[in-house]
Amino acid sequence: MTKKLTPKELEDYEARLKSLLAILTGDIDKLEEEALGEQALPQDASSEGGADSYFQEFSLQLLERDENTVREVLQALERLRNGGYGACEVCTQPILKERLKMMPHARNCIECQRKEEEGLL
Ligand SMILES: [Zn+2]
Repeated sequence: MTKKLTPKELEDYEARLKSLLAILTGDIDKLEEEALGEQALPQDASSEGGADSYFQEFSLQLLERDENTVREVLQALERLRNGGYGACEVCTQPILKERLKMMPHARNCIECQRKEEEGLL
């Protein structure tokens, strides 16, 4: 079903994680230099308004802008480097790509997350 993530996908998730981190820490300028330097950013995104709309898909999902989330994003980036990214921490099954796209810092698969929320883990 879910195959191992390709290097290209990992790159994509890394960019997403860095965007998330920049939003969480409010460091958009740094993000543009480090994460988006070589990527196709719409030309008109150099203005603040353009950048805002570029990041809208993230900010809509970002209800929790707290230290906890920042830590999870940092841990996800570490897993990206160490090769453990994309696997559920609980059951070690691959996390669905749809979930990773919504939440690139997800530690658990949907099932384990649900169990955790219900206090079953
Ligand atoms: Zn799991």
